[in-house]
Amino acid sequence: MTQLSLKIVQCPKCGVENRTVYYASINTFMDLDGSLVAKLLDGTLNTFECKNCGVNIRLSFDVLISCSDGMFSLNPADNVEYKKKQLKSHGLLSEKGKIFSGLESQYLHAKSKLEKRKQPSPSPQPPPAPKVTPNTKIYYELSEKLERLLFKNKKNNEDKTSKTNAEKPKPPPPPPS
Ligand SMILES: [Zn+2]
Repeated sequence: MTQLSLKIVQCPKCGVENRTVYYASINTFMDLDGSLVAKLLDGTLNTFECKNCGVNIRLSFDVLISCSDGMFSLNPADNVEYKKKQLKSHGLLSEKGKIFSGLESQYLHAKSKLEKRKQPSPSPQPPPAPKVTPNTKIYYELSEKLERLLFKNKKNNEDKTSKTNAEKPKPPPPPPS
């Protein structure tokens, strides 16, 4: 989870103690617009201004990052290229340097998982398809269905006819020729 911690930091310039909150961990699922990762990357995460002299103070603590790929830690003060490499390897940064939002990275992670699964295991050769059987099978199935259908219809018709016959008065016998 994204966790903020309280820290008292002494200003390196004027020595005044500053109480500040900093990100101890980031959950990229919650970082929907990717802004925390962006700050981590450009080094502005966990920085603050001294309340006394206004100097910019950067806390160089490792930030625990949890993403769909697992957990790793990065320090905002790390080398930019190193941070990029780490973020890329965990699917949080595109090759072109675009930061994926929490949702995007989740989506891409799921997608890449699916694609990995989809990759067919290399089978040497497909089994030879019998030439007659499938068609024969289909033919039999069809004819069976047809037969059933025809039989059913016939039966229904017969039922109907017998019923109508029973209701209707019998037609007069044909005149003797
Ligand atoms: Zn200061």
